[in-house]
Amino acid sequence: MAASLLITRIGELVTNAPGEAGRFAVIDDAALVIEGDRVAWTGSSARAPAADAVVDAAGRAVLPGFVDSHAHLVFAGERSAEFAARMAGQPYQAGGIRSTVAATRAATDAQLRAGLHRLAQEMLRQGTTTFECKSGYGLTVTDEERSVALAAEVTPEVTYLGAHVVPPEFDGDSARYVDLVCGPMLDACAAHSRWVDVFCERGAFGVDEARAVLTAGRARGLLPRIHAGQLEPGPGVRLAVELDAASADHCTFLTPADVDALASSATVATLLPGAEFGTRQPYPDARRLLDAGVVVALATDCNPGSSYTSSMPFCVALAVRDMRMTTGEAVWAATAGGARALRRTDVGYLVPGARADLIMLDAPSHAYLAYRPGVPLVRAVWQGGRRADLG
Ligand SMILES: [Zn+2]
Repeated sequence: MAASLLITRIGELVTNAPGEAGRFAVIDDAALVIEGDRVAWTGSSARAPAADAVVDAAGRAVLPGFVDSHAHLVFAGERSAEFAARMAGQPYQAGGIRSTVAATRAATDAQLRAGLHRLAQEMLRQGTTTFECKSGYGLTVTDEERSVALAAEVTPEVTYLGAHVVPPEFDGDSARYVDLVCGPMLDACAAHSRWVDVFCERGAFGVDEARAVLTAGRARGLLPRIHAGQLEPGPGVRLAVELDAASADHCTFLTPADVDALASSATVATLLPGAEFGTRQPYPDARRLLDAGVVVALATDCNPGSSYTSSMPFCVALAVRDMRMTTGEAVWAATAGGARALRRTDVGYLVPGARADLIMLDAPSHAYLAYRPGVPLVRAVWQGGRRADLG
């Protein structure tokens, strides 16, 4: 393997250079040098240094790899019939998660691993080089532990989501289930996880239960994040800010107080437009958040119920078309924004010292991600400086 690689004649290099509040930034007619697993140099193509190997981008765009900070990938079964029924007029209900729980409990480790690897490869082909992966379809000590252990095989960003929904065997006794989530289940899962999450929503967990789960996780060294405001306004977003959660996810329904709280915090608002697409709900008001100064991330929420897409380009296209984000804002949110939501400083940017996670599009600019929706534009992916096999 060559010690250094020069990618030259890049039509548009998206750097997201830190500074200027960490906004979207590009270099036209650019080049980039990779050494080992890091970016060593970026600048004008005309001034590019020599390297051991050269790739000619021939005017194509190069971007940071996508950072998908919200995904549920450890599950069995599928729910296409439920999706079809919903599109025919039935409302989405959080309890639909239970059918995936039954299928996941019945699956072998090998079946779950195969599904996980299939989705991870699908994400890579679409330019995702960092992704978060949640448990939450096991909901027993054994099944949650194997879910986080399997997730840890494919990503360091593992989230313990024992508090996804109250399983049927605890019907009418969510307090006893929360005790399990905060006790023996957490004991089993903490060593495999970096994050703790809770679905704070009517039909799932209330704010006091959510606080108990996140506080218990934090006491075991896990960092909090939260599902909040997906179906209606609620106290989840302010709880996220109160606990300095890295991210409040969904944020589809927000009060003015929620927006103010986010704007004066380090908590990222992670928007998941695939879920609105898949449930035919109104999209979150990204402009209101951006105009208030909130840091916004975009993620897929990939899961078999409400958002069975692994495609960050699809989410970028929805954000531009239906949430009135500019193409630059959407790409920033899908790269550097996702990195912020995972409290990562080594990804989401293409500057010297950053991890060499980057994608080359079969297009001259980032805008094509929204301009040509549904078209597979990702031509090449480098992950940690190595060119990935996209199969
Ligand atoms: Zn989710």
